[in-house]
This record gives sequence, structure tokens and C-alpha cells, in this order.
Amino acid sequence: MKDKSKIVEVQPFGGFNQALSYAVSSKLESKIKIGSLVRITLGSRRLNGIVISLDSKIKDFNFKLKFISSLVQDEPVLNRELIALARWMSSYYYTSVEHVLEAMIPSAVKVGMDEKIARYIAKIPDLDIDKTCKLLSNSPKQKKLFLHVQKLENPTHLNQTLNELGIGISSAISLSKKQFVNIFSKKVERRAYDDQFGDANSYIPSSITLTDEQKVATQDISRIISKGKFSTHLLQGVTGSGKTEVYFKAMENVLSKGGGVLFLVPEVALAPQTVSRLRNRFSQKNENVVVWHSHLSDGERLDAWSALTTGESKIVVGARSAIFAPVQNVKLIIVDEEHEPSYKQEESPRYHGRDVAVYRAKLNEAVCILGSATPSMESLHNVKSNKYSLSRLSKRIDGRELPLVHLIDMRREAKHEKAPPILSQALVESLRDRFYKREQSILFLNRRGFNTTMLCPDCGEVEVCKDCSITMTYHRTDSYLRCHICGYRKPAPKVCPKCRSFDILKKGHGTQRIEDIAESLLPKKVVIRRVDADVMSKKNLFRETLNSFRKGKIDILVGTQMIAKGLDFPNVTLVGVIDADLPLRMEDFRASERAFQLLTQVSGRAGRGDRAGEVFIQTYAPHASSIQFSRKGDVAGFIQEEEELRKEFKYPPYRHLVRHIFKGRNMEKTLFYAEQWGNHLKKQPLENVEIKGPAAAPLEKIKGYYRFHFFYFTPKITPFLKYYHKLRTDFPMDKDVSDVLDVDATQLS
Ligand code: ADP
Ligand code: ZN
Ligand code: ZN
Repeated sequence: MKDKSKIVEVQPFGGFNQALSYAVSSKLESKIKIGSLVRITLGSRRLNGIVISLDSKIKDFNFKLKFISSLVQDEPVLNRELIALARWMSSYYYTSVEHVLEAMIPSAVKVGMDEKIARYIAKIPDLDIDKTCKLLSNSPKQKKLFLHVQKLENPTHLNQTLNELGIGISSAISLSKKQFVNIFSKKVERRAYDDQFGDANSYIPSSITLTDEQKVATQDISRIISKGKFSTHLLQGVTGSGKTEVYFKAMENVLSKGGGVLFLVPEVALAPQTVSRLRNRFSQKNENVVVWHSHLSDGERLDAWSALTTGESKIVVGARSAIFAPVQNVKLIIVDEEHEPSYKQEESPRYHGRDVAVYRAKLNEAVCILGSATPSMESLHNVKSNKYSLSRLSKRIDGRELPLVHLIDMRREAKHEKAPPILSQALVESLRDRFYKREQSILFLNRRGFNTTMLCPDCGEVEVCKDCSITMTYHRTDSYLRCHICGYRKPAPKVCPKCRSFDILKKGHGTQRIEDIAESLLPKKVVIRRVDADVMSKKNLFRETLNSFRKGKIDILVGTQMIAKGLDFPNVTLVGVIDADLPLRMEDFRASERAFQLLTQVSGRAGRGDRAGEVFIQTYAPHASSIQFSRKGDVAGFIQEEEELRKEFKYPPYRHLVRHIFKGRNMEKTLFYAEQWGNHLKKQPLENVEIKGPAAAPLEKIKGYYRFHFFYFTPKITPFLKYYHKLRTDFPMDKDVSDVLDVDATQLS
């Protein structure tokens, strides 16, 4: 063995927490690049891994060193930049590089699925058809196939054709041997950009003249782009102010200079209009837009990945994880609806898609645009401290005013009846009125899930999961109660287990329940449909529902905030928010901000066409500032008040929040170790870091695990993590208790 073999570092997949050195044979040497997907042996296992450095710490060839067995794929699956991003994420979010790479690279790419090859059949040009037929007169099947192929303009899938004609492969082979047809193998294209996401009906004006505000924003951004340096820009524009057009101008600018673009949306299925507008606009310029969404098959995902690594496609649009798409020469990253909580991943690695976007832009000297009608307090703070620049779009495109907002005090409504109604009289009247005017309405239910809880109206008994401290959800389809965290299910009781009341089934504010109530109160002809978890999980059903709503076949759409995002229905003139104050009842300092964002977003859905809109907000807390400010459309007023509050308690964005969760099946033991850890910290405090806890998490028990948490408030992440790492390494944790760190935590339950 030569001692001059090159030595590289490979990060194996499959639970191995460290990069290892491998030697490269001379045969592979020219092909191994940074980011190459390689096959290696580790002990007795054969694994795939990524070459993360061409420069190993081990300089001299050591006989224990193994060679890389093979290269899985010619093109590297990651570039230098994404590896740098993975390293940064690993240190910032306190997690292993392997974990980050696992999240970055789709499994189809990781295993190096073969590119699908299929056989095709095609005619041979300029053959004398009559003469050939004569030669084939004794083989009717070959003749049939031959004639079929003569009619085709383009090569066609061999097996499919044979199936259709009922002809066996041997006939095809004979024909090919006689050179009467051409049979060849080629890569099947599973173009991820050709699915039907988005909808063709979306209206695209042939030529758009920018409004004055759009012009200013576009100029601001192009000035930044022309500097060729990293920069983050906040585009704060009210709903319907034409932010998308500003993004598109920035994209055209960057693409014309050969740069690549990442476009993040909170959820692809909820952004069909954005996706189709992107496609329409950029396909005219011969750009393939890769749509990165959860319904991609492994093959499509692999193709999308290679279209990007090879530079064939320069634009990707997708949700959170699309931030890892291997777009080459990224020069622009757009994060639409940057305030959305769904950008934060709530499992390891617990990264924030928006923050990773900003860092990726930094690595590339690229421009990052964050857009929102109601920016996060974090981003606003960064504008104030001059880290981000800002453009504002204050007017809606058609100059229409924001809709008229009515607050309905449900405490008063409750006085007229025994129990508070779910739909107030005023709302029902208006729904009826819209129906007679042939206009459409949306009813929003303000919760994440679609909970119809089983609550006894007589004694207050609630059915709670025995393993998770949350109420169980009633599914009418099969009359089961289910826990949405652990999946535990049991048949729903027919009478209250405590007081034997039969009314137990009637309670709950789920979408089904709203649908039922609205049906019972409105004329028979009113068509009501709901968008719930079932509908969302079926890609086509969701699209169909939205399409029939757009075509006016549905009068009232009932759903949760998921239908509030970015949908544009010109004929909707009424929006009802059923329980506006639900987020305010959560134990979370961001509750007010979320409620405000949601109400503002929801209100933006009303009256997007040429008719004015009306919004009804039903609330038990009509004086809450989030409700008052959103009602007036006073974003600045809300922000100012919220800033003062956050400043007073030094909550984020004034400090970072790191949440530390202890989990264990045994409550006493878990709490004991959490307390021990608390003492351990107290012995060596770090200046400027405030420690709160341990406390029981609001969701105290999940899947049978008890949970206690600490909150650490710190002005800076890096020194804090250094401190934490040292103390944590010294801390003897019990094997039955585990802990996890959530940097810049947003979910506090
Ligand atoms: P936002 O993202 O700010 O909520 P959109 O970008 O969806 O707003 O724009 C709202 C609507 O206005 C879209 O239908 C869009 O095609 C249209 N629009 C945007 N800019 C213009 C313009 N300058 N002239 C005419 N229509 C425009
Ligand atoms: Zn009861
Ligand atoms: Zn459970």
C-alpha cells in the first residue's frame, strides 16, 4: 500500500455521532469531493456517509485506516456551503452534525436510490414500411408492434406499450435485432416540478405595473442585491399589498445574474396560489421551479435533489426543510410569512427555518428577504437595532380599506341562554344574509387541532389521556376518543362516567360541531364544508375543496387557522372567528402576539375582491390588546405595546430563551434529577444568565413520560452553551431520565 493515499473525513449515517477518517484509493481519488455520498465499512457494518472534509486530522497513512468502499453517486449530494451550515446548526442548536445531516438530506438521497432506468421503443426513420410488413407477414405480433411504433412521433415506454398491445417481449427483441425498431434504456424523468400543486385557475395579469410602494421596495432591495453582500431585509406589507410581486422582482434580478433562489412558505399545500404564480412567472423564463413538499415520492425527491445539485434548476419553493435544498450559488432567500410558528421544528434538530435562512444567506453573501403583514417581534427588533433593513407596503393593491370588524362579547350572548352559544346571533344573521346575496363566508376555529373534546356540560367532567396530560379528542366517524399525542384510543362513553348525563356527546367546538350547528341554524340549501385533518391529509381532497369553494359551489367554509394562510378568495365577504381568545388562555408570553397575528391574518381574508368585507370576532376578552389592536388594523400600536411588555420582563427578543426539558417514566426520579441539576447550576452561576425552574411542563405527561423544564434567559447563545456544555458533561444523569435542549424555544408547552 502506498503511504501517499489521500485521507478524508466521513460522517457516517445510522446513529454514529462522529466523523471518521478514511483513505481514498487512487481509483476514486479524482471523484471524491466534499459532500460526496460514499459507502464505507464501520466494524462489521456497511454504511453510507458523507465526505465532510478533504483534509483529515490524520496526516500519515495508518494501516488501521480503511478505504472508502465506493462512491454511491457521481455528483456530490451536498456542497461545501451546506456542510458549513450543518456545522453551524450543530453548534448553535446544541446537537450533533449527524443529526443535522439526517434532517438535511432526504432519505431517498441518503441511501442513494438508483436513478430509475426504463426501456423505450422508437421507430427507425426512413424505413420502407411496405417492404418491412412483407418481411413480417409470418409474424403477426411483430408486425402489429412494428405498425404501432411507426405511428409514434416520440419514443415510448416499452413495457407499457407491450402490455397495452398484449404482445410479449420476445417479439420486441426480434424486431430490434432485425433493426426494424430501436430499443434503448434511458433515465425516467420524475419531474418534481410537474405535479399539480397550485391551481391553473389562478389569475395572472399579463403585465403588472408596480404601485409606488412596490417600486420603492423593489428599488430598496435591488440596491442591496447590487452590493453583492449578505444582508437581511424585512418586507412588512399588509395582507393584499402585493408582497409576492416584490419577491418576484428580486428573484428576476438575482436569476439574471446567475444566482439561485430559495423561497420558503409555511406550508406548501396552503400556498397553492403562490406556487402556481411562481411556476407561471418563471416557466416563461425557462426556469424549472422545484416544489419541495411532503407528498413527493422518493423518486421525485431524488430527481428534485439532483436537478438542484447539477444546477439544472435554480429555484426551489417549499416549507421549512426546503432551506436545505442544494440550490447552487444561492443569492436570494425569501421567507414568506416569516412570523409563522411552523418555521420552528419541534423535534431534533430543533432549528428555526427563518433563522437558518438568515445564516445560509450569510454563508453565501446572499440577500434574505423576510416578508409578513405582522412580523415577529424578533425580526422587528433586528430592524430597530439596524441588523435588518426595512420596506413597508401600507396599502392594499386595490386601495380597499381593511374590512369592518365587529367584536361580539360572548359574555353578553351567554346571558340570553343557559349555556353560551357557539355561534352568536349576529354572526348567524350575517351568514344568512351572505347566502341570499350569493356571497361566501369563512368560519375560523382558533385552534391547532380540531378538538372536539368530551366535556360533560352538566358536571364538567373531561376525558383526559391516561399517559399525556391532554384532553382526548372525539372522532365522530368511528365514535372513538383519541389522544393526539400518543395515539391512545378508546370507545367514547355514551353517558358521562361521573354523573351519567346523556348530554356528554353534544359538547365541543370542533369543525364538525360548527358545521352541524351552522347547518341547523341556516337554510337547507346552504352548502357548508369543513377543512380538517382528514381533508388536509388527502392532497386531492384538500385541493378539490378549495377549488369548489373558489368556484362558488360551497357557501361556507369551516376550518382552523390553516385556511387563514395566503388563500385568496375574491367572493368571500364575511369572516367569523369563533373563539378569538383561545390563544390568550395559553401559558405563553407569545400568546398575545400569536392572537394578534392570527386575527390580522384572518381579517385579511375578507373582501379581497371588489366587495367590502366584514369580520365578526367572538370573544370572551374583548378588551385584550391583541383583539383591540387587530380590530383597528393598528399593527404599529400593537407592536409598541408588546415591545414594552417584553422589555419589562426581558423576554425574547430582548434575551434568548433556551428551554431544557427533563423526561422520564418515573415522576419522582425525573423531578429529583431536574432538582439536582438545578442545584448543580446554582453552584456555578453564569453572569447575565437567568435560570427558571424546574417546573412541571404545561403538558406534564406525554406518551407516559413526565416532563419538567428549565427556562434559561441569556443575552448570547454561544457563551451560554459553552457554560452549559461544561456543566452538563460533569453532571451524572440517571439512565432512566433524558434531557433535551431547545435553543430559541417557541413552544413552551
Ligand atoms: P400579499 O402577499 O401582500 O398579501 P399578493 O402579493 O398576494 O399580496 O397580492 C394581492 C393581489 O394583488 C394578487 O392577486 C396580485 O396578483 C395582485 N397584484 C399585486 N401587485 C399588483 C399590481 N402592481 N397591480 C395589480 N395587481 C397586483
Ligand atoms: Zn357529567
Ligand atoms: Zn396520550
